Amino acid sequence: MYRDIPLEEAVAILMKYTKPIGFDEIDIIDALGRVLNENIITSFSLPPFNRSPLDGYAVIAEDTISASKEQPILLRVNQNIFAGDLPLRPIVSGEAAAIATGAPIPPGANAVIKIEDTQLVEDNVLLFSQLKPGDNFINQGDDVPAGEQILSKGMLITPAVIGLLASLGRKTVKVFKRPKVAALSIGDELVGIDEPRAPGKIYNSNLYAISAQITEAGGVPVPYRNTVDDKNQIAFLLDSCLQENDMVITTGGVSVGKRDYVKESITLSGANTLFWKVNIKPGTPVVCGEKNGRLIVGLSGNPAAAMITFYMLIRPVLQKISGLQQVNLPHVTAIMEEPFTKKSKQRRMMRANVYWKNGYYHAVPSGTQSPGALKSMLQCNALIDIPGGKGPLNIGEEVKVILLSPNYIL
Ligand code: AMP
Ligand code: MG
Repeated sequence: MYRDIPLEEAVAILMKYTKPIGFDEIDIIDALGRVLNENIITSFSLPPFNRSPLDGYAVIAEDTISASKEQPILLRVNQNIFAGDLPLRPIVSGEAAAIATGAPIPPGANAVIKIEDTQLVEDNVLLFSQLKPGDNFINQGDDVPAGEQILSKGMLITPAVIGLLASLGRKTVKVFKRPKVAALSIGDELVGIDEPRAPGKIYNSNLYAISAQITEAGGVPVPYRNTVDDKNQIAFLLDSCLQENDMVITTGGVSVGKRDYVKESITLSGANTLFWKVNIKPGTPVVCGEKNGRLIVGLSGNPAAAMITFYMLIRPVLQKISGLQQVNLPHVTAIMEEPFTKKSKQRRMMRANVYWKNGYYHAVPSGTQSPGALKSMLQCNALIDIPGGKGPLNIGEEVKVILLSPNYIL
């Protein structure tokens, strides 16, 4: 078992247990936020034919040489092509075809003049400007040629991916299965939100915050009723949760208190402990076990600490199990907008609100940094990554921040 390891090392250990768990075939309308489980190669070009990008007249560019407002050129209109139609005949020199946006350009034509630069005179059209070959001409395959691998396995399905699938005539798509993740809260002080709260007790909020984070990271949360600080009971639950789910996340009972049993219970459940304590603040006392290739991750019970360690440690792991290739959060440099006077030996992940103004990112701590302060998570869209031993931080100082919000899986 490793102890007090750097965050990156802990993530690397967990990443060894991230085998995806199969695939589903679902309607593309339901696929937003899922991860592609197939490579998509275009079976035909997009657009599938040469098309006009505007309403106007398809012509032969060479026929328009020297056309101007003062000296327009007259061409005979040989057909009207609307979107969805096929051209009835080709264009030969001296002819033009009236054409709508999105309609196929007839053979022979090599440019389209916009309607605003023309005037219809009975069966003829006056052209007031000159064109070059290829003007306003969208070639077949201009967007995507046939045979191109346009989408690949492991991509997050965004609205654009769904649009592309539809433009290829796909009704369904293969996506990675979402892992089932048990959420379990441990603590004698906890009561469920459907129970009366006696003095000295608190509502079990972690269960809900963590379940929501599981959903955000591509998993299916399976919330369990909270359990008391009893090592045998915890061990029993860990074992049964692990049998029914792909991963188990607990909160509470991982530190050095007399009733912090999760470490011991992991062993009692027959799992093998991979590490205890990660070198970040808040949330240091993370414990991690493995049984039959499935992970148990025990997080601190402190609500903000639990959420932060989830983002840094569990989110990439769950996303990987969900099939996602790109699991790293973006890092940017920001300017401190408030001083931070503390200095800690440990690396600190400071909750912050980061915004863009006048060409720079600016970072404001999003409230008290105590590990139990859940309110500080409300405005928190980034974590300031402060290396161990660094501090205090001054206003105007450049800091590295990890942006939390993009790249969601729904
Ligand atoms: P622990 O990690 O068990 O030492 O708990 C640390 C702090 O987090 C204590 O103040 C607990 O009361 C609080 N806490 C533990 N579990 C939860 C939970 N599920 N929801 C809200 N607060 C919790
Ligand atoms: Mg406790």
